[in-house]
Amino acid sequence: MAYVIDGKKISQEIKDELKEQVEALKKDGKEIALAVIQVGTDPASSVYVGNKKKACAYIGIRSESYELPETVVQEELISLIERLNQDDKINGILVQLPLPEHIDEDAVIKAISPAKDVDGFHPESVGALMIGQQGFLPCTPAGIIQLLKRSDIEIAGKECVVIGRSNIVGKPMAVLLLRENGTVTVTHSKTKDLKAVCKRADILVAAVGKPRMITREYVKDGATVIDVGIHRNAENKLCGDVDYEDVFPIAGAITPVPGGVGPMTIAMLMNNCVSGALH
Ligand code: NAD
Repeated sequence: MAYVIDGKKISQEIKDELKEQVEALKKDGKEIALAVIQVGTDPASSVYVGNKKKACAYIGIRSESYELPETVVQEELISLIERLNQDDKINGILVQLPLPEHIDEDAVIKAISPAKDVDGFHPESVGALMIGQQGFLPCTPAGIIQLLKRSDIEIAGKECVVIGRSNIVGKPMAVLLLRENGTVTVTHSKTKDLKAVCKRADILVAAVGKPRMITREYVKDGATVIDVGIHRNAENKLCGDVDYEDVFPIAGAITPVPGGVGPMTIAMLMNNCVSGALH
């Protein structure tokens, strides 16, 4: 039976640590502010944005909301970002993705100053990550590293297999595990014999985007299984990329969905806002 890695509890610890840091900064007269830009009214995006604003309020970060209509032209969005780049009172800028089809997401990400890129998606942040320089880390993979460290799960020297190679999860996850001295394999939709590769893993990170695809056939006995996926099943219940009930009896440690990786993403976003203000 697996040890359940409690992302809710660990994210709460991180938020409480940040709250203390923010209070100390306030005493020195420094306020932290995050600008949150949402385009359109997609319900899932509204939930994410709402949760981020709630976390800001808890920690003591001021959040400024910019709600733009679905039809906004790209130039208008970029000129808002440029204005916020220049605004000394704003430490972080977050543009909730995805954006409507007519807007070039890459151009928008590039418009954000790397000094305020709290999502860690700007090419400069990605480059810094690759070569181990100071920069904002993407929140979901950075949160997974914290989950492992704060659960005393050793990464150095371990076989780590990442399923998925997206720019926001799979690729940066692989680089961060490598930075922690893991031996890392990245798998994807063209990988041959995925089950055999995954079975090698001491630490298996599933970011495949397919509900409950990862059964015990992919998992070595005693492995740590990190489930990044978020899906709603037919009964409208949340589930992950891992078949939790099937894998739980044989894994060494596992993250649940909900309550695993999800809450860590927001905690690390808050961490980026605070660390950005310190530099
Ligand atoms: P994505 O769709 O961009 O990437 C999925 C990756 O999986 C691709 O690289 C693809 O090559 C690979 N893949 C697809 N089918 C495969 C197969 N059959 N075998 C092997 N590899 C396969 O997804 P993403 O943005 O990386 O997100 C992955 C999951 O994580 C989604 O469910 C998403 O909702 C979730 N997510 C959660 C958080 C969080 O905070 N918990 C954050 C980001 C994404």
